[in-house]
Amino acid sequence: MKLIALPAFSDNYIWLLHDDHHALVVDPGDSAPVLAWLGQHPGVRLDLILVTHHHADHTGGLADLVERTGAQVVGPALEKMPVQARGLQQGDRLDWHGLCFEVHEVPGHTLGHIAFWAHPAPQDPLLFCGDTLFSGGCGRLFEGTPAQMLDSLDRLAALPGSTRVCCAHEYTLSNLKFARAVDPDNLVLREYTETCTALRQQNLATLPVALSIERAINPFLRSRSSAVVRAVRQRDSHAQDDVTTFAALRSWKNEF
Ligand code: ZN
Ligand code: FE
Repeated sequence: MKLIALPAFSDNYIWLLHDDHHALVVDPGDSAPVLAWLGQHPGVRLDLILVTHHHADHTGGLADLVERTGAQVVGPALEKMPVQARGLQQGDRLDWHGLCFEVHEVPGHTLGHIAFWAHPAPQDPLLFCGDTLFSGGCGRLFEGTPAQMLDSLDRLAALPGSTRVCCAHEYTLSNLKFARAVDPDNLVLREYTETCTALRQQNLATLPVALSIERAINPFLRSRSSAVVRAVRQRDSHAQDDVTTFAALRSWKNEF
């Protein structure tokens, strides 16, 4: 299986997975980059589209792609899709040419947000997590509560560390700036920042990133660590338990 990040808009990625015959894409906010890639790979047929949540930068290309390719669309059962789609919920499985995707409900950014995890062995597992988990950060809470987002991130963080995390936006460097303000003594974070800065200087994607790295550097996956707890509580007296600390961390990021 080959994994490709197609850039879209200013900072979205439309993930494309293919085996030289069949392709799927994730969250096509725009059809143009997908159609351009398919035009350059005439032997590959787009037959499946995965959607994580209803926002336009993830769904805007659906109608055009369905019309031109006839691809099947699957998305969150709890959200309205602009085209006919099979609704998926927690625990559902989806087979695609021998690869099995597990569906995780991850409310927070939106209420019905889902993520897709699959293991194309012998390659490392893949996670398509939309706007829930970003490298060094997490999605804004537009619809869900801090408790829901913390629970969603906890469940994603429990997946195998070798999982390649495929986020829907290139927000890494700005997230790492905030992460370093929260967690200045984190040496892994410092090294990872250097790696990502070099990648962005060459205009390369910082993604996918191994989940094991995220666990070590992402303050939103480390909101119970003593370093993060100390930094948040110094700033915000409302931060008293896991959920209020996470909420204070998320509002700090909003203002940063
Ligand atoms: Zn979104
Ligand atoms: Fe988005």
